[in-house]
Amino acid sequence: MTDTMDRRAIAYQKPQPTGMLADMLQPGALDLDAAPETWVPQAEDVWFRPLLLSVSSGYYINLLRVRKAGILSRHRHLGPVHAFTLRGEWHYLEHDWTARPGDYAFEPSGETHTLIVPEGVEEMVTLFHVTAGYVYVDPEGKAMGYEDVFTKLDATLAHYEKTGLGRAAAEALVR
Ligand code: FE
Repeated sequence: MTDTMDRRAIAYQKPQPTGMLADMLQPGALDLDAAPETWVPQAEDVWFRPLLLSVSSGYYINLLRVRKAGILSRHRHLGPVHAFTLRGEWHYLEHDWTARPGDYAFEPSGETHTLIVPEGVEEMVTLFHVTAGYVYVDPEGKAMGYEDVFTKLDATLAHYEKTGLGRAAAEALVR
């Protein structure tokens, strides 16, 4: 059945399903030089800006910003990752490709790789959609630590509390 012309502009009239999560809009989410207080320190010269922290589905979407060259981490993914590079460039020691602005990269669940920002790159920013999480490992795969939506949420809560954005600003990113 198709709508007639005069019915097309009518909003959906029924209730949304029980249990549905709230929608979200973040103006300027990719305005990388605005709102410096929204960037959570992760390590020296490394920050992330959380966009969505899905505790219900076990994934998170964040911008990663790195302002140094060199090895960042070796990690094993427990779920797939989608990465859109916005600034600078980066690659994995295990692959022969380099991600540059405008590029999309897929990281398969189960893969272990070592992230490196090459010399000469002053700033790298990439949007990562991280499913499940990842485990920091040594070269033989021995677990050293982990990240997931819950570690990201804890870090965001602590930082936003400290910088005055407040816990509510962090909780607003949670679904
Ligand atoms: Fe990765």
